[in-house]
Amino acid sequence: MNPTGPAPGSQASLREMNRLRVLDAVREHGALTQVEIAGVTGLSAATVSNLVRELDVAGAVQLRPSIRNGRRATQVSVATSSGLVGAAVFGDRDIRVAIATGPGDIVSHKRMPLPADHAADEGIARAARLVQELLEGAGHAPADLRALVVGLPAPIDAVSGEVGSEGVLPGWRGVAVAAAMEEALAVPVRLDNTANLAAVGEARLGALQGISTGMFLKVSYGVGAGIIIGGELFRGSAGTAGEIGHVTIDENGPVCRCGNRGCLDTFVGANAVLGALRPSHGALTLRDVIARALQGDAGCRRVFEDAGRHLGVALAGVVNLLNPELVVLGGQVARLGDLVLAPMREAIERCAIPSAAATVRVAVAGLPPDEADVRGGLTVADQLRESAERAALAVG
Ligand SMILES: [Zn+2]
Repeated sequence: MNPTGPAPGSQASLREMNRLRVLDAVREHGALTQVEIAGVTGLSAATVSNLVRELDVAGAVQLRPSIRNGRRATQVSVATSSGLVGAAVFGDRDIRVAIATGPGDIVSHKRMPLPADHAADEGIARAARLVQELLEGAGHAPADLRALVVGLPAPIDAVSGEVGSEGVLPGWRGVAVAAAMEEALAVPVRLDNTANLAAVGEARLGALQGISTGMFLKVSYGVGAGIIIGGELFRGSAGTAGEIGHVTIDENGPVCRCGNRGCLDTFVGANAVLGALRPSHGALTLRDVIARALQGDAGCRRVFEDAGRHLGVALAGVVNLLNPELVVLGGQVARLGDLVLAPMREAIERCAIPSAAATVRVAVAGLPPDEADVRGGLTVADQLRESAERAALAVG
């Protein structure tokens, strides 16, 4: 017994835990009636009713009248007094969309596969529809969304707001994605590169928290990076900083899709990795190769060890130029951990100046690969909402 405060297992801490269970259920499912909350949490209807009342008084949830199965019911959703922000992130083969009250507080999220050969306008329409569905599913009006960030795995020209070159998205070059989304959803939209967004996510909630000079390295189908300087994302003069995939590591190497020769991407991108294995292993997906490498397949391990070495050679240049404290590896390849990190470290030690190489740490990213960019997108959308609110106040 602890008469002065909630001890573990006490009535008070049980109540606290149940409140969190109700909040989690609402977050997971968007909006729920109290009967549905009872079903999801296994709590009694009376307990749910009390907990919802407490959460409402605390301002943590909002209640809306609705009709379910022809009967009047109260819909419970996460409170959003200053509106919601959203992120729609295009991956190599999917779209992931989230709406949230802030970067750490996702209200609802959804993932949808995307065909590799989709048209840009189709991708944009799908993302807009997904955002609308999430808002509706969570019991929110379209106007509750205050800002949206769209992430694309391609370089973005900060001046024009257009896709600078195609990256892994054929058919997107020159498309004004932000303008199209703004028109579809009637909110301020900002477009950014997914590696940049993942770096922001890692800086806000992951392994780059509290790091002044660092880098997020994304290795999946392609290679990209987001650079953190002074704790903030460094975008460069036109917004394309961090395009490490097109750093030349062999002047006489294979011709890259960017037109240059011997770019890092031609050595460690999925095409290179899968191409090297085709004669011996047949046609595999990147996911297959990673799974086989984890199971001990010697050929699959070898291609990633080589990739780690090439990444280290390119990173040595970055280490010399920026003298970072920490480089974190994200993207699908991060699942391989030390298999890639060890040869990367060796190459950095071999190729970078000793004092810079000695101070840089190389580690796996803190957030899961499909989460870092979404969290970063929500972080940037949160900033966008704030500046829009300040601008509105100044006008009013
Ligand atoms: Zn290139």
